[in-house]
Amino acid sequence: MSRRAARSRPRGVQITPENKCSFCVGSKCCNYVTQKIPGPRSKYDFEHLLWQVAHEGVEVYKDEDGWFLLFHTRCRHLRADGRCGIYERRPQICRDYDNDYCEYDAPAEEGFELHFRTYDELNAYCRRRFRRWER
Ligand code: SF4
Ligand code: SF4
Repeated sequence: MSRRAARSRPRGVQITPENKCSFCVGSKCCNYVTQKIPGPRSKYDFEHLLWQVAHEGVEVYKDEDGWFLLFHTRCRHLRADGRCGIYERRPQICRDYDNDYCEYDAPAEEGFELHFRTYDELNAYCRRRFRRWER
């Protein structure tokens, strides 16, 4: 998936996969989780999504892999210095995440086909998608 980057690119320093994370302000990829969901089709499905994005820190997006919920939430194991507090026993998905080209390099949103950050954004989409959408 899916994320965005606060970046710090020091002048004169060659950024490599080995040192990149140390320059990633906020350790972006440790500050959210995503969950794949079935693609919404019916009004009921979108009503459900509206309820979800009405909550703070919850967004929904669609990319080439399908529809996802995005929760902005900091991992409890992310230390103040940006390092992982359980590095040796971190979950497999953390081990698999490749920083060769990650959110430090480009915001994940660049790959989103659809992205709803708020209730109002999704509601506007629903009004366009469904001829009868009273809201
Ligand atoms: S993998 Fe990328 S987004 Fe995650 S901390 Fe490292 S540089 Fe930042
Ligand atoms: S377990 Fe470690 S690597 Fe994984 S999200 Fe939390 S702080 Fe980041």
